[in-house]
Amino acid sequence: MRLPIILSIDDDPQVLQAIQRDLRQKYRRQYRILCTESAQEALDSLTELKKKGEEVALFLSDQRMPDMTGVAFLTQARQVFPTAKRALLTAYSDIDAAVRAINEVQLDYYIAKPWDPPEERLYPVLDDLLSDWQSNHRSGFEGLALIGYQFSPHSHDLKDFLAGNLFPYQWLDIENNPKAQELLTLHGLTPSDLPAVVFEDGTVLTQPSLSDVGEKLGLVPKASQELYDLAIIGAGPAGLAAAVYGGSEGLRTILIDKRGPGGQAGTSSRIENYLGFPNGLSGSDLTRRAITQAQRFGVEFLAPQEVVSINSRGQYKDINMADGSKVVARAILLSTGVSYHKLENPSLDRFTGAGVYYGAATTEAYAFKGKSVYVVGGGNSAGQGAMYLSRTASEVFICIRRPDLTETMSQYLIEQIDRTPNITVLGCTEVIEALGKDQMECVVLENMDTHERRTVPAAGLFIFIGTKPYTDWIEMDIIKDPKGFIATGRDLAKYADFKKVWRQAREPFSLETCSPGIFAAGDVRAGAMNRVASAVGEGAMAVSFVHKYLAEN
Ligand SMILES: Cc1cc2nc3c(=O)[nH]c(=O)nc-3n(C[C@H](O)[C@H](O)[C@H](O)COP(=O)(O)OP(=O)(O)OC[C@H]3O[C@@H](n4cnc5c(N)ncnc54)[C@H](O)[C@@H]3O)c2cc1C
Repeated sequence: MRLPIILSIDDDPQVLQAIQRDLRQKYRRQYRILCTESAQEALDSLTELKKKGEEVALFLSDQRMPDMTGVAFLTQARQVFPTAKRALLTAYSDIDAAVRAINEVQLDYYIAKPWDPPEERLYPVLDDLLSDWQSNHRSGFEGLALIGYQFSPHSHDLKDFLAGNLFPYQWLDIENNPKAQELLTLHGLTPSDLPAVVFEDGTVLTQPSLSDVGEKLGLVPKASQELYDLAIIGAGPAGLAAAVYGGSEGLRTILIDKRGPGGQAGTSSRIENYLGFPNGLSGSDLTRRAITQAQRFGVEFLAPQEVVSINSRGQYKDINMADGSKVVARAILLSTGVSYHKLENPSLDRFTGAGVYYGAATTEAYAFKGKSVYVVGGGNSAGQGAMYLSRTASEVFICIRRPDLTETMSQYLIEQIDRTPNITVLGCTEVIEALGKDQMECVVLENMDTHERRTVPAAGLFIFIGTKPYTDWIEMDIIKDPKGFIATGRDLAKYADFKKVWRQAREPFSLETCSPGIFAAGDVRAGAMNRVASAVGEGAMAVSFVHKYLAEN
């Protein structure tokens, strides 16, 4: 097997020798280390490498070179190997250029020279970049294959599930990928068996449920213990943060999610405003890091497993799952977040999963290569979705009810959209109908000022509007605001029912619901900030109140 390449460029022979020595010392078993003094020579060799089917995992380039700058080199190298990680070696005086390059070339990191000792100043950064590259790398991938029809809702659910649980898979569309037909014949399947999942060990599941696939992949849908200190329901950023703090502070903690880890943030193509990641990070990277961290602290993770009801028996709380199983815990954290509002429209219901998607831009973008797609919504999630889709779709139209995006989207995203030639914002515009036969082919748009209607070709419609909390299933008399968000802490005093249900001598802790020992954090909580960082902060805070609650019970 050919090893992936780390390519390093520096015009200074001494620096090049030093970086070559350090790279070889640590990475020579897993990567081929190539080094050159000329950026132009390196660029010339890239096309040849590509033709030979080689993979480049990392470019590491000096910024100041006589024939071109490191940023110029990385910009061109990115065109040939777009998934390779890009790092710049900079002198202290070039750090400004490196920070600018974060936006210009989506630089992954800059490393200030000298990097001694490499164990502290070089290897941790490169380990991180290479591990990201490895976990997102697909080419030549022969593992798990999902065969199905592109416009089948069942296939979409399986794709979403595999991506959500961070399992690398190969999507094979039976209508235009010859390998799909080959696999069908090989396993004696017919089109009526689709979607089908072919696993690495050669076994096949036809028309499987998400839990069939989860079980086969070793996801754990059953709890291993009788009693936990803390049960966290929902593994978005709030739940994951609570799991990390709960686990690290010695609480027997179980984290439960009906889909997989990551929540809404896991579907984000690039989170640019999370502290400590100046070049942004994808939702799947954040999720992978967080769930690994939680499990390292001994947190048990159950997924896919939906919680359908909870009830409190004083010190003990029951958490009942959709499959009839039950977990008992001394405290609960509700971190079930929000979902997008479904647009009430039968024509959209008909094509959900077959051209109409709620969120899901990162899962489905490649299916719309060269086609026109529409995004509904004016918030940051819609903006990120549009940016992601613009890489593959021929044209992306953002439909919003307001005249423009200024009131609803962050300025950095508005600027990115303005700079992207194949994105058009359609202000004062609503999608009122989807049309098509087996899959969506067109949408009908209405101008809200003139009421003029027009039918336009649309292969995909991605809806990112509104937020509805996942709280309908909570039957206990937990106080919620009129929109269904859970009231906590001092805010509870505003509600007339509070005095009837709260029987404690103390006030509720901040983030505690009106049922002692049941807490809420993140987007599901009334008054939440709807940000990754605030959800993470609340998840962490909730654990400190759980300790206080457990100490008095
Ligand atoms: C596409 C997109 C991009 C975004 N980009 C940014 C950004 O760049 N910066 C930023 O700060 N914010 C961003 N946000 C917002 C941010 O992701 C959310 O504020 C954050 O994810 C909220 O975290 P949470 O843990 O409260 O809930 P969620 O992320 O909503 O997670 C809730 C989890 O609970 C699970 N769940 C629900 N009900 C049950 C049940 N009954 N049983 C078991 N599990 C259940 C769900 O499956 C889900 O995994 C973005 C959101 C989206 C959708």
